[in-house]
Amino acid sequence: MTERTPLIAGNWKMNLDHLQSIALIQKLAWTLIEKSHDFKDVEVCVIPPFTALRSAQTLIDAEKFELSIGAQDISKHKAGAYTGEISGQMLSKLAVKYVVVGHSERRQYHGESDELVRDKVAACFASGLIPIICVGETQEQLESHGPSAIPVRQTLEALKGHESLKEFVVAYEPVWAIGTGQIASPEQADQVAAEVRSAILGEHGELAEQVRILYGGSVKAGNVASFMQGPNIDGVLVGGASLDSDEFAGISRYKKHIVL
Ligand code: PEP
Repeated sequence: MTERTPLIAGNWKMNLDHLQSIALIQKLAWTLIEKSHDFKDVEVCVIPPFTALRSAQTLIDAEKFELSIGAQDISKHKAGAYTGEISGQMLSKLAVKYVVVGHSERRQYHGESDELVRDKVAACFASGLIPIICVGETQEQLESHGPSAIPVRQTLEALKGHESLKEFVVAYEPVWAIGTGQIASPEQADQVAAEVRSAILGEHGELAEQVRILYGGSVKAGNVASFMQGPNIDGVLVGGASLDSDEFAGISRYKKHIVL
């Protein structure tokens, strides 16, 4: 019997310097401990900016907090003359477990193509990191294609052509719901997650059953439960609300056993 352990991941984006990051991690961890959070049942991951990863690692290690660490991006290159880039090897040395790949803000503001996203997924696999592959449709695409065509296509593109697939997570994040206060209906989110899972099953077989699929887009403590009820949603990727320790701890408290 296998389980998909729910994952609650907080993407801090370009917020908080390393001192503020330490303070937030400390507050979050203690809030979760006070609320008797079952870290085995629900994995909680913080995704600070690159500049705070070393401090996050030191603190989490010293205090033995059961929090996972994620990075917001990765270079497709292994090493070399790529000014400003951060390699998978550098991240794995900092105890980073997850890497956000293909976030809509990177696709939109940095022109990241499906091909580059695929290369970044490969870079994660090569360094033992788990990519959180972000997929989702814009408002215009929703109107012209419906909700699932773009997420399915982006997922399959990111998974194409790898020698072998290692562990990965998919985050369905409708672009129109990110940071807007608008949310997809829980039924729509679950339906898209189901279609993404079935597309992975069609192309890559049974590993699809192990893949965690998250919902992201204006998730808060008050609406997380409705998303987690869907049989295909295995957690959430949270932006704005992850900067508030009480709110994020409230989101993380939602328990769910997904037994396959
Ligand atoms: C995100 O950026 O991945 C996100 C989901 O943001 P927010 O929760 O603020 O909508």
